[in-house]
Amino acid sequence: MDNFLGKIKTNFSKAKDEAEKYSKLAIQKTSNLVSQTKYNFAVNDAENKIVTVMAEIGEYVYSEYLSGAEFPADVAAKCEDIDALKEEIASLKERIADLKDATVCSSCGEYNSSENIYCAKCGEKLRQTPAADVDVTPAASDTEEDTAEEE
Ligand SMILES: [Zn+2]
Repeated sequence: MDNFLGKIKTNFSKAKDEAEKYSKLAIQKTSNLVSQTKYNFAVNDAENKIVTVMAEIGEYVYSEYLSGAEFPADVAAKCEDIDALKEEIASLKERIADLKDATVCSSCGEYNSSENIYCAKCGEKLRQTPAADVDVTPAASDTEEDTAEEE
């Protein structure tokens, strides 16, 4: 019996030693992981800063292009890509504005109530003539012809 208990005790202390060993290892691994995470954050941070600076360089080049500066053909082509994308954005915003029954300012991109004649943000004129009628009864008019009669 003593022998049996002694064996249990020995096994227990062995297990305890093992557990301590593993928990020390785990702490080491954890602090290793914490360091890795820290370094990864630092790498991401630096990468994001590069992206920001790249964007700033791009914005500088693009604004120079807009004011007529000469650039190598491939750089100019990239600027033209931006022009095309800006046009696409403008037309998409127009579509959103139609859905929202709003008017997009061509100068600042602000959404304005379709009743506005001038942009609420920058004061740009939103259209040439005020709308003939702003229909407040949407259920009654589901055809476009209603508004087209007064031209
Ligand atoms: Zn505006």
